Amino acid sequence: MKVEQAFTALADGIRKHGAPVCQEIDGELWFPEAGGESYELRQAKKICSECPVQLLCAKYALVADEAYGIWGGLTPNQRDEIRKGKTSVETALARSADRVKNFRLKEKR
Ligand code: SF4
Repeated sequence: MKVEQAFTALADGIRKHGAPVCQEIDGELWFPEAGGESYELRQAKKICSECPVQLLCAKYALVADEAYGIWGGLTPNQRDEIRKGKTSVETALARSADRVKNFRLKEKR
């Protein structure tokens, strides 16, 4: 899939489902400091795990070779593992969502 196709698919998904939460709240959440599982990182992953365009977002970041930030709930390291063929995007998303399934957001979105 080319970057333009992935971007169009993501844009179509956003048009269909409405603006994702990441466009409405603190953008810094999606750029947590590297390393560890900070509250901010888990918060971003939790929000992404409930986003209707999560898979499209993750696929776009992969083909666009996004080096920074959380896309679709995946960290740069997780995207590297997918690019290297160590896991699939679907498996990585499922693992990521599983890690935050019991995480409760403190702030009202
Ligand atoms: S999955 Fe992507 S579009 Fe949805 S909230 Fe997360 S970063 Fe935003």
